[in-house]
Amino acid sequence: MSSEHDAAKPTNFLRQVIERDLAQGSFQGRRFAGLPGDAAHHAAGPVDSARIRTRFPPEPNGYLHIGHAKSICLNFGLAADYGGICHLRFDDTNPEKEEQEYVDAIIEAVHWLGFDWNAGGVSHLYYASSYFDFMARAAEALIDDGLAYVDEQTPEQMRATRGDFNTPGTDSPFRDRSPADNRTRWAGMKSGRLADGAAVLRAKIDMASPNINMRDPAIYRIKHAAHHATGDAWCVYPMYTYAHPIEDALECITHSICTLEFEDQRPFYDWLLEHLARLGLLARPLPRQYEFGRLNVNGVLTSKRKLKAMVDERIVDGWDDPRMPTIFGLRRRGYTPASLRTMAERTGASKTNIWVDMSVLDGALREDLEGQAPRACAVLDPVELKLTNWSRVFGSEGHREPCQAPAHAQRPDLGTRHFELGPRVWIERDDFAESPTKGFFRLYPGNKVRLKYGLVVECTGCEKDAAGRVTSVLATVVPDTKSGTPGADAVKVKGTITWVSGHDAVAAEVRLYERLFTADQPDAEGRDFRSVVNPDSKRVVRAWVEPGVASCEAETRLQFERHGYFVADRVDHAPGRLVFNRITGLRDGRAK
Ligand code: ATP
Ligand code: MG
Repeated sequence: MSSEHDAAKPTNFLRQVIERDLAQGSFQGRRFAGLPGDAAHHAAGPVDSARIRTRFPPEPNGYLHIGHAKSICLNFGLAADYGGICHLRFDDTNPEKEEQEYVDAIIEAVHWLGFDWNAGGVSHLYYASSYFDFMARAAEALIDDGLAYVDEQTPEQMRATRGDFNTPGTDSPFRDRSPADNRTRWAGMKSGRLADGAAVLRAKIDMASPNINMRDPAIYRIKHAAHHATGDAWCVYPMYTYAHPIEDALECITHSICTLEFEDQRPFYDWLLEHLARLGLLARPLPRQYEFGRLNVNGVLTSKRKLKAMVDERIVDGWDDPRMPTIFGLRRRGYTPASLRTMAERTGASKTNIWVDMSVLDGALREDLEGQAPRACAVLDPVELKLTNWSRVFGSEGHREPCQAPAHAQRPDLGTRHFELGPRVWIERDDFAESPTKGFFRLYPGNKVRLKYGLVVECTGCEKDAAGRVTSVLATVVPDTKSGTPGADAVKVKGTITWVSGHDAVAAEVRLYERLFTADQPDAEGRDFRSVVNPDSKRVVRAWVEPGVASCEAETRLQFERHGYFVADRVDHAPGRLVFNRITGLRDGRAK
């Protein structure tokens, strides 16, 4: 059981539960008939070859976000680590909000993160809506057993009789109807003749239960709405709390992992499955629900509804805006699947909701890219550097000095970059200071610096426009100081700066992103997140990049020396139109 793979991972309560179950053989001999189904279906099948089954059950009502990434990594990761299988299940029981666009996007996001639901040639991708027939049959079995009834109170009456934390609820006047009577009324609910809200089917449990979720929860409601998969076949739809346990059981899920807010639902989860198994409808052993703490990220919204509002109100440029915490946004921003998986692992699984900073993901990204991203030079805030003695030193203004640099100092296999130095160079505006502050070792009149991979130059002054803004920096080259040539180090300098040449650099649009909100909890205490949107979360600059970068493909990740990690934008970047997004800087310097 303890392969090297899991030994390397920190343990957590979910791993302990699974290890205990495997050690005790809790799920041994469990049958699985290849596809989801009821007790009879599975009883006819072989013993399940999967040691555990987990599932990731998104509702296809929006794009997945960083919190879902956590859940995906957890569910698929645990299945992989313990010889199990993880199902991808669309929890599409709510007819109104769900769309194919979201289904497709979720499939793509889970694949991109590196996970798959195919096992032994079987695709374990399921739709909760395909269980509607069974769910209705199960409801009828509950009615027949005296465990469910049709309630015709108004929604207001039902709310009023539910009680609260301190007060027990009171029984519905319709609670004690006979199963036969309830069957007739249930048929009425299904017939389409009743209006939405005219009746609900409720489980008959205990209106005085201290757990409000056990006070005869609604399990079916009337909703005259077409469903994206089942069309007009139904006008009654199961409630989530009823549907979810059944979905798990039909799929023979062993460990149903969900977030903490479902803890109070667990008694109903168990109540329902226990009765349906007793009635012979569901196979044993039954799934068990385990709750872990949500992942929250400082300065980030993780509510699909609010993210949708951001898109609809054009606060961002779409679901995949690189500032969005959606998986598509994170991907477009340049984060790697490995960095997200590392973040998920480092944030563990605990019994409390946790808050982390984006720096956890940034740190994981740097670790991932440090050893593999090719380096390149880029000047993001360019000012011209004129080398005024160029023709005297090299014989003509047209002379070009070939330079080279490793694509990655520790990775000779990534090859060598080639570019040239000429008399006109782009440097960063802040690499020059007319009057330097203490400790400034870069260009100022009288100081020498090395143009990295090139020559040493000595600053002689600058040119300014009428407004006093520096338009170009002036310097002379120091002969015989070319990097990599004998004696190049004879002239000592304290500063080295990056640069690109005026004649061979390529123009690029570079998008510099900052956090989208100025507050750590944008929606804390009912605050409208719109009031804390950071107006400077996106800055676009015209940059110059070294020539070799011109041919890179979309989604190529690079380290621009001194600046950080960047990615060629997967939507807008094309040969001839270079567009880069800054993923993160080289160090954790995230300003608040
Ligand atoms: P939202 O409230 O944004 O709609 P949700 O939880 O309703 O999110 P679902 O599609 O129901 O979205 O979620 C699918 C799975 O992802 C669930 O098992 C849910 O518990 C899990 N999940 C959602 N958000 C987080 C989070 N922040 N941290 C960990 N798991 C999460
Ligand atoms: Mg939900």
